[in-house]
Formats: sequence, structure tokens, C-alpha cells
Amino acid sequence: MTHSGRHFLQIPGPSNVPDSVLRAISYPTIDHRGPEFQELFSHVLAGMGDIFGTANQVVIYPATGTGAWEAALVNTLNAGDEVLFFETGHFSTLWTGLAEKWGLKPTVIPGDWRTGADPDKVREVLAADTDHRFKAICVVHNETSTGVTSRIPEIRRAIDESGHPALFMVDTISSLGSVDYRHDEWKVDVTVSGSQKGLMLPPGISFNAVSQKALDAHKHSTLPKSFWDWTEMLASGKNGQTPYTPNTNLLYGLKEALRMLNEEGMDNVFARHQRFAKATRAAVEAWGLEVLCTNEDEHSPVLTAVIMPEGHDADELRKIILDKFNMSLGAGLSNLKGTVFRIGHLGDLSDLTLAGTLAGVQMGLQLAGVPIKQGGLEAALDVLKDK
Ligand SMILES: *Cc1c(COP(=O)(O)O)cnc(C)c1O
Repeated sequence: MTHSGRHFLQIPGPSNVPDSVLRAISYPTIDHRGPEFQELFSHVLAGMGDIFGTANQVVIYPATGTGAWEAALVNTLNAGDEVLFFETGHFSTLWTGLAEKWGLKPTVIPGDWRTGADPDKVREVLAADTDHRFKAICVVHNETSTGVTSRIPEIRRAIDESGHPALFMVDTISSLGSVDYRHDEWKVDVTVSGSQKGLMLPPGISFNAVSQKALDAHKHSTLPKSFWDWTEMLASGKNGQTPYTPNTNLLYGLKEALRMLNEEGMDNVFARHQRFAKATRAAVEAWGLEVLCTNEDEHSPVLTAVIMPEGHDADELRKIILDKFNMSLGAGLSNLKGTVFRIGHLGDLSDLTLAGTLAGVQMGLQLAGVPIKQGGLEAALDVLKDK
């Protein structure tokens, strides 16, 4: 079927790219050793520092988020180091697997894929680790596979209370630019992020924000690194340069995305995402369906994962919605395949984009023969109009 109008890309990343960002990206590529690039790169480095909430220089890679995950580990750790991971869902599991491939020794605190990393568990495990075997603690801030956001400040407090010296690493790939985050204030050692979610860019650039403690660990770290090496990235970055060819056009886009976020005001951006999430949950509850996240304090502002009733397939629903209404929704990943679909409400969208999204979901559910109650869309509109 051909469709009029725009495709609705309501997956939890890549998110919709604003027109002005697309236009910025379309400018001719410039000499990355020239003065114009230096000015651009210095500008986006400073702007990203503000977004991360850090006074330290940020590292920008021409790579997706997975690269920045790897960079966080290889820049700070030694072969065979023990690392503590929390199984929040698909993405925490992938990061754990990456650590394993590097010869690190992950210990995984199991999870139910419906709640975040538990600060009490952090306190308990670290208190028991009196030999300080764990060299790093890795947590995914917003688990994109489940729609659950872990409470980073509370986890930081738990680490402090245990007096444990491990590095604290946080994946903010799907939260940065959509959910409040403070690298320095929360004493995170390495924050990992990417371009294609809250920052509203296409995939292709990713970030490490670093603490002084992470830089100290970096000096002694023996895992091999070349492409990811912070030393060279930070030294060139100081002069607005990069050790190898940067993703110049995406950096134009980043400059424009930062301008847009700052124009709206980060507090307003965060509040908007909270409101979108609340409206979406109102619709899901009114339909009589269940949200995957079970902890009231941990609902993601970025996406909502919805459980399909027994006997109904989430991928069948997504197919109907794509065919009939030209909208993409997020699939259930690994363990959740077919049993969950995910509604992305992040980045460049308005009240009416979300209303259209939820209208599409409601019609899709009806067409798929999923038993739902009346009034879901109306419940969402009630939240949206209450600005
Ligand atoms: C998207 C995502 C990733 C993977 O990033 P890529 O850009 O696909 O390499 C990792 N972690 C989280 C939380 C994500 O949302």
C-alpha cells in the first residue's frame, strides 16, 4: 500500500530527525584540519559537556553507541578485571557480552526485565566485596528494551555508602537529552551515549563523558586500544581537532540539535518527555492493557513497553500498524519477542504527534482483534491538554 504524508517513526531510537537538523547535515563537508572545523568541534564539545553535566572534556567518536560502550571498558580496565553488571534487559545483556569478549569477568545481578538496577542490591553486593574485586559497576540508565529507568543518584549513594572504589559506568544512549542526567554531580566515572535517540540525530556518533578518576584509571589501563584511545582523542579535542577523520556532517547536525534543545530549555524538554510518557500510560491503562515496567518510580520518559494479552502476537500487531497506518513501533527484543511492543515518545515530537501515534496503536489493536476497552486515546488526550 502506498501512503500519503509522513512515516511515523515511533520506535525508541533512532528517533525522528528534525527538518532543520537534516538541513544542517546536508551542507558541504569541510576540511577537518581547517579553522572552520576547529570552531565547530570546539562548539559541540562544549555543548555536549553541558548536556552531560560535566566540566571535563567529552570524547566524540564516529561510531554508534556500541563503540562508546567498548571505549568505556578498554580505556579504563585491565585484562581479567571483574565487572559488576545489572541485568535490566536486552541492552545491559549486550554490554555484558561485549565485556566478556574483551576477557573481562562480568558478574551479573539477575533481573526480571520489569524493574531497574536495585540500589539496595548494589549496597549489599559491594559491602560483601571486601577485597574490592570489582573494578567497575555498569548500569544502563534507560533500558530501551523494557521502558524502565534505573535510579542513578540512588545507586551512586549506595556505592558511596559501601565505600567501594569501583568505577561507575552508565549507559545513557537512550536517555541523554530526554531524561535529567548529571555526570559530575552524580559522580559517574564514564557516561556512554549515542546520537540517534534523545539527541535527534541519525545514528553514527557516540560519546564518552569521563571523570578524573576514570582518567587516572586510563593511565594504567592495559587493555589494547587504538581507535578508542582517550589520550589521543582528548589531546586533539583540546585544539578542536580529531586524531582521524570525524563525522563532519553529523557534527553540523549535532550543533543544530543542541541549539534546538537549549532553545526549548532542558527542563522543559525533560518535563515534555514525562508528560508524553504519562499520556501514553493513561492510554495503555484505559485500554485495559499492562505496561511492562512494574515500579512506579522507574517508568521511562522515553518509551513505553506494552504487554500483549495472551494469545496475541505483538509482531502481528506491528505489521498491521505499519501496513495500514505507515507507523513503525518498537519490537519486543530477545526474551520479549512477540510478547511486547514498544511505543517511542522521544526526541522531535509534539502533543499531536503523540496523539496520532496513540490513535494508530488503538486502531491497530482493534484491527488485530485484541480485546481492549474504549477510551484509551481520550485518556491520553486528557493528559496532553492539561499543560
Ligand atoms: C540503542 C542502544 C544501544 C545500542 O547502541 P547502537 O547505537 O545501536 O550501537 C545501547 N544501549 C542502549 C540503552 C540503547 O538504547
